[in-house]
Amino acid sequence: MQVTQPSTLNPQLFADYHTHPQGHRVQRYSLQLLQPWIDAARGKGITDIAFTDHDRYHAGIDFDELDRLREKNPGIKIRAGIELDNDPKTSGAGRKWVKQNWERLDFVLGSVHYLSQPDQMFDSVPDGARQFSGHDIDEIYSDYFRRIREIAASDLVDCLAHLDLVKIHGYRPCTPIAELVDETLELIRSRNLAIELSTAGWRKPVKELYPSDGILTVAIKKAIPFTVASDAHSWAQLGENYERLAQKMSVFGIREICVFEKHRRREVMTNAG
Ligand SMILES: [Zn+2]
Ligand SMILES: [Zn+2]
Repeated sequence: MQVTQPSTLNPQLFADYHTHPQGHRVQRYSLQLLQPWIDAARGKGITDIAFTDHDRYHAGIDFDELDRLREKNPGIKIRAGIELDNDPKTSGAGRKWVKQNWERLDFVLGSVHYLSQPDQMFDSVPDGARQFSGHDIDEIYSDYFRRIREIAASDLVDCLAHLDLVKIHGYRPCTPIAELVDETLELIRSRNLAIELSTAGWRKPVKELYPSDGILTVAIKKAIPFTVASDAHSWAQLGENYERLAQKMSVFGIREICVFEKHRRREVMTNAG
């Protein structure tokens, strides 16, 4: 007979591959900063966690400090990661840093936060919505996915974050999404990259998983592997809405999630199916 542990909220989804311990400023990695994340992970049944701070805060990342954290927490896999985006101001330096530290990194997320307006992330809520209202939404989507393909082809990422972030404010294209995204998913497949299932969409105005059901269907057909992630900006958000995610995965028949060590991907069965 199996003993169930009431404190384990989501035994099947044991990983979180998108987290921001530094939040939105440079905060040097230290045990003080990071240990609460590990404690929260343990409490939620998450045994494999990737720290993926924004590349603009790469100055705070300290690989030796991550080694110390690993020594203290042998039961948890702790991955050194980063979220590399397309910020016109900072991503040049970010790319350089990723190249320099490639060997010490386990995992690199690629993302697009900037469209044609170079000084404002389109996903800022609510201000970023102004980049959409009154504009041709199909054109914005095409432009967004073109930028995704650029980062997917950069040879610097293992996985794409929040693949349809462009829907964040609820603006939808007229063209079917499967059509709009096909070339991008084809490239992701041919580059052997993963995409994430991000519960963050559920706490944003769009209130929908990233990516949408329509994109998921095409991605599954192309056998693209998935990570699971919360995009937590505080340890309290780790594994947020994972029960709901497990249900969604079950509906779509997704039974494997992937984890990374030194950019090497491994697919692991979950109980979610
Ligand atoms: Zn992001
Ligand atoms: Zn993020």
